[in-house]
Amino acid sequence: MNGVVLVGDRKLEIRRFDDPKPDRGQVVVRMRASGLCGSDLRPYRSTPEELANRANTICGHEPCGEVVETGHGVSDVSVGDRVMVHHYSGCGQCVHCETGWTQLCIEGSTVYGSGAHGGNADYELVESYMCVPMPDALTFEEGAAIACGTGTAYQALKRLAISGLDTLAVFGQGPVGLSATFYGAVMGARVIAVDPVPERRELAAKLGAAETIDPTSADSIEAVRELTGGVGADASLDATGIDEVRQNTVRSTRIWGRACFVGEGGTVSLAPTPDVIHRQLTLHGSWTFSTHTLKELANFTVNRGLPLSDLITHRFALADAKEAFELFDTATTGKPVFVWD
Ligand SMILES: [Zn+2]
Ligand SMILES: [Zn+2]
Repeated sequence: MNGVVLVGDRKLEIRRFDDPKPDRGQVVVRMRASGLCGSDLRPYRSTPEELANRANTICGHEPCGEVVETGHGVSDVSVGDRVMVHHYSGCGQCVHCETGWTQLCIEGSTVYGSGAHGGNADYELVESYMCVPMPDALTFEEGAAIACGTGTAYQALKRLAISGLDTLAVFGQGPVGLSATFYGAVMGARVIAVDPVPERRELAAKLGAAETIDPTSADSIEAVRELTGGVGADASLDATGIDEVRQNTVRSTRIWGRACFVGEGGTVSLAPTPDVIHRQLTLHGSWTFSTHTLKELANFTVNRGLPLSDLITHRFALADAKEAFELFDTATTGKPVFVWD
């Protein structure tokens, strides 16, 4: 089979690998859609030295496809099942694994797509418990989106307890931020979407943002306050991981408001007293989702007939991985996905 390997300095290679065979408790998933996520750009932009610990590992952590082979002892999924892959494995026994949060495993977890082969390949070998069966009405592309970026946004909105009472400011309109805009609006919030790229602000408006802000032409804190009668957003979410944007996220939130950091990496400079304590702020961190969240979100999306596919702006064959990453690297798109016929 073919698989995509990131080799550093914005280069990748499509390499040949042996087709995987399932061991006890494992299954082989034939890939039907595999999404690109903002967090793929960090390794893509890394140096070859920084990628040394993942040499020859297939990238991709939004896998979605069909189970084509099961190993001994597998009873939770069957050949032919349509599944999203929760891209982590753990001990399977601890308090976090038991609740579907294997990424929090006390014994340490493996992240598929960096610590083990990921989804940007014709087939992926995974533990059976990583497979989350999905409703027939959900497309493979939508399943791929839910399997990381969209699931991450949904879980963060739940942490923020978003409702129709809220004005929600979402900083960064990449696939995670766009998903937060989309589901935030579905949950009833008035969404203010912030992004410097016009294409992404347009997408945000299409996906449900009531207002958009260009932070290069207006002070985003002031702009959010102006749109909220001088008060600030009830809830806010950072999907960029950029220090200054994280500050803006916190400072554009109202007194007694809730803020959530989702974008990873980097650092942040906040002054606890004026920024958090004296503003009675609740500051959350939210990292991805459990297997149960994936199932819940798939059902939520299908039961309401939500047009999640509007988030997906580009489709590529795996053979065109170079073009896919180069386009995504421009930070102007919604979600690109690899698709197989
Ligand atoms: Zn565990
Ligand atoms: Zn991701």
